Amino acid sequence: MYRALYRKWRPRAFDEVCGQEHITTVLKNQVLSSTVSHAYLFCGTHGTGKTTCAKILAKAVNCEAPTDGSPCGKCSSCIAIDSGTATDVLEIDAASNNGVDSIRAIRDEVVYPPSSLKKRVYIVDEVHMLTDSANNALLKTLEEPPEYVMFVLATTELQKIPSTIISRCQRFEFRRIDAEVIGDRVKHVCNEENIDIDEESVNLIARLSDGAMRDALSLLESCTAALGDGKIEYASTERQLGIANNEEVVSLLRYAAEGNVSEAMGILDKLYRNSRDLATLVGQLNYLTRDLMVIQSLPGIGLNKLGSSFCFSKSMFEELCSLAKQVTKEQLLYFFEVLSEAQSRLGYSAQNKKLVAEMAVIKLSTPLLVGGVDALRARVSALEAGVPVKPAQPKTTPVEKPKIAETPAPKAAPAEVKSTPFSKRAEFLESLSRKGAGTVYAFASTASFTLKDGTLCITPDSDIAEDKLSSPKALELITACAHEVMRAPTVVKIEKAPKTTVQTSMLFEELL
Ligand SMILES: [Zn+2]
Repeated sequence: MYRALYRKWRPRAFDEVCGQEHITTVLKNQVLSSTVSHAYLFCGTHGTGKTTCAKILAKAVNCEAPTDGSPCGKCSSCIAIDSGTATDVLEIDAASNNGVDSIRAIRDEVVYPPSSLKKRVYIVDEVHMLTDSANNALLKTLEEPPEYVMFVLATTELQKIPSTIISRCQRFEFRRIDAEVIGDRVKHVCNEENIDIDEESVNLIARLSDGAMRDALSLLESCTAALGDGKIEYASTERQLGIANNEEVVSLLRYAAEGNVSEAMGILDKLYRNSRDLATLVGQLNYLTRDLMVIQSLPGIGLNKLGSSFCFSKSMFEELCSLAKQVTKEQLLYFFEVLSEAQSRLGYSAQNKKLVAEMAVIKLSTPLLVGGVDALRARVSALEAGVPVKPAQPKTTPVEKPKIAETPAPKAAPAEVKSTPFSKRAEFLESLSRKGAGTVYAFASTASFTLKDGTLCITPDSDIAEDKLSSPKALELITACAHEVMRAPTVVKIEKAPKTTVQTSMLFEELL
């Protein structure tokens, strides 16, 4: 009879349980010294070995010749429990329809001693699913159980268990299993089963299983089922396990980080047309930002330790590491802000998903467009790190200054000096950027420029910008650049920042 790999390779002794040594050692010792408790609570995420340990424990306390605290697997008790014919070991799924009835039945049953084994063991899975009345019924039996009864309660959600129940049990917390430990086990199983598999596939399975051994073996199984006798190789594993190609998501983020709006938007559009869910995509971009942050904070971290929710191939991971070197922490924080906001917007408005996603991508690519401290920090730090950041669309329309009669015309002829837009704005900013004037560049890039009678008038968009641009050092730099692009000595004047400017960022807020 065919048995699923995870069933076939389910541990039969405590020592075979991977990654939960802090629990199995204690249980082994309790069996050895006959100090087992009457009630246990096993908590932890799925697939970490809770039910497996419960079964081993049930066998160990009933085994006729336990070895080193583990069941022998050969005596009649062990065999009966393994084959599921032992009526004294009961598995109850609290999430199932009759789960609650089964719990109520326990109260009536416990008065009778076990029929053939030493102890009657109740294994209650998903115990957090019990109703209040079932919990009360369970509590009654837990309060004063007969000598020959033992409970093993298992749950993935400890916080949902009433404290009255928790306090009556010995509690063990199962950990997510290390990807390396899972990888080793997968390799071991492959060896024993004569499955030919490459290292990258093993790692991929280990990462995908997210700490759950059962999932890892099920994934391995689906790879072998599709292949027949061939070798399991990375490309086919990726296909078989249905991992969407994450390369595009990484590229999108890279283009955004480089300020390449058109490429970033191009990828977004492609993914949209391929009916990729945009809310998921924005979530993925955010997770990727998290991965970049972790790689940056812990340089040299391996792929297996990254704890990413993504599946990266080796080459993609390398690309991610190089991207992590290009971006600054401030930029990533800014990304996180923008993406989190877009995520929550996408959460409640399903209608304009594409619009919201597009705006997010534009914001990511051009922090210049956005006001706010995070954007400013991102801009400044990107410039300081030498990442080219493209300036926003030049503002060709000069800011209309209110014409108050503060300067009465001295003579009749030129009532006011004619102002013209500064056509060499882009060139000027480029020159600033070349001179490595990070902060000055950042503030100048959002200012408006006009030429008035040969004087270059710069109107900053905020008080801070006005402050920074007016400093002697900044002025010197600006004048030098102006001289360069105008090819003549130029007088520079920093105007007062207007009190009420409609900032580009506000326009965008309105659009969203
Ligand atoms: Zn035995």
